[in-house]
Amino acid sequence: MRFRFLFIGFISINKHTIMNDKVRVRMAPSPTGLLHIGSLRTALYDFLIARKNSGTFVLRIEDTDQNRLVPGAIENIIQTLSDFSLTPDEGFVMEDGKIKEVGQFGPYLQSKRLEIYSRYAKELLTKKKAYYCFCTPQRLDELRKQQEAQKLPPRYDKFCLKLSGEEVQAKLAAGESAVIRLNVEPGHMVAFDDLVFGRIEISTSEIDDQILIKSDGFPTYPMAVVIDDHLMEITHITRGDEFISSTPKHILLYEAFGWEIPKFVHFPPVLSKTTKKKLSKREGDVSVQSFLDKGYLKPAILNFLAFLGWSPKSEQEIFSLLELVQEFSIDRLHKAGAIFDLDKLDWFNSTYIRNLKIEELFALTLHYLTEAGFETEKYPKAFLEQILSLEQSRLTKLSEIGERVAYFFRQPEYDASLLIWKKSEPQTIQANLLKLSEYLKTGDASETAIKQFIEERQLKTGEVLWPLRAALSGLTASPGPFEIMETFLILPNGREIILQRLDQALQKITGMI
Ligand code: GLU
Repeated sequence: MRFRFLFIGFISINKHTIMNDKVRVRMAPSPTGLLHIGSLRTALYDFLIARKNSGTFVLRIEDTDQNRLVPGAIENIIQTLSDFSLTPDEGFVMEDGKIKEVGQFGPYLQSKRLEIYSRYAKELLTKKKAYYCFCTPQRLDELRKQQEAQKLPPRYDKFCLKLSGEEVQAKLAAGESAVIRLNVEPGHMVAFDDLVFGRIEISTSEIDDQILIKSDGFPTYPMAVVIDDHLMEITHITRGDEFISSTPKHILLYEAFGWEIPKFVHFPPVLSKTTKKKLSKREGDVSVQSFLDKGYLKPAILNFLAFLGWSPKSEQEIFSLLELVQEFSIDRLHKAGAIFDLDKLDWFNSTYIRNLKIEELFALTLHYLTEAGFETEKYPKAFLEQILSLEQSRLTKLSEIGERVAYFFRQPEYDASLLIWKKSEPQTIQANLLKLSEYLKTGDASETAIKQFIEERQLKTGEVLWPLRAALSGLTASPGPFEIMETFLILPNGREIILQRLDQALQKITGMI
């Protein structure tokens, strides 16, 4: 199918400013798996358009493709929206862990609306805008092959349109399998002005007599979406750009019913950084859940998603949801695909982590800390707060915290070679560790005191501080030895732990010699 995208160069703001104060937008996901990160962007933009215009955000679940349904997907969509504070005004919401349907335009689950679709299909049949088709899969297959051989686009050849009323009735009475097709008259232009992509036109000669109702009585996507958007009084059809090519078919349906055509707002695609193609499952897990599992914060994800296809007037990058509501406008949505750049997401995330209060960071990381060996009863609050403030500015994702701080709760395991500073001799490191261990039995562990210890004994700083730090943490990278010791010394047995670690290191280094 060929489309002519007639982009109108500069789009004036006035054209896009929504004047109608009864804006109604909807998100219409199909429950085919865990909510995709790109769908969360759609939800965010829907939410922002609704809030910005004092409008209504509707959540409708499009479950007419029964073969693709995934158990739990509906719950996941509703729960995710609620977790991200993008709760719809109508449709489905989570209340006390249970799904609740709200609003006066329901049912909001398409499989509960079959009778409505069939009623409207009958209306089109009566108006002669649609017709029954009894063609068998074999005939359609043959037709397609012939068209392929003649290098023609695959189109239904309107064979059943020629059937008389009596013939149709007789076939239906005999229980023959039938679909209902839209009768598309060739030779007309269908056009619409997308608020992001501009004017789009296509000739009806390029549009097939699409199926509206399948032989199992279920509607196809175009039929259900148009009827529902009309009956639910949706003013702005907001969705990903992959639906641009379906929109002319939808417009034909609006015309066939004689309904007012809503506004269309297609969002730009989200592209993989590596392939520059649409972000897909092949890039790894792209469900919202997987980003939460990796330790990305919800506000950071939303902030990142807001910029995937939109930019504010100012240079500001950090936006709360409330600020996004104030700042967002359709005319600042981009046409160009947005690159899904994980480095940028990491940047947003670390910025948000840095701005957390220690108690918030604790609450968000508690399960990682527990996995790493933290026990509430065993460790004083001040000890944990100190650990968290040491790591807060170094964290990119919450999930990193466990491996970074586990040494505070458990004796670390590491290779003896970690204790060697650059090209130092193990003997030197051994001697230094021994001196340190003697000194720290009673000596001051502060930075000033340790530096004095080094100076007085004319040791090389690296040959003392590196093995000390490595002995304490067992890691190649960690906070410095003074910060670690200061933290341990919050514990009543802190000095004991420090000495144990030095002992462990001494044993390791002795084993090397
Ligand atoms: N059910 C479609 C989807 O899963 C929604 C298309 C639309 O918003 O019109 O994305």
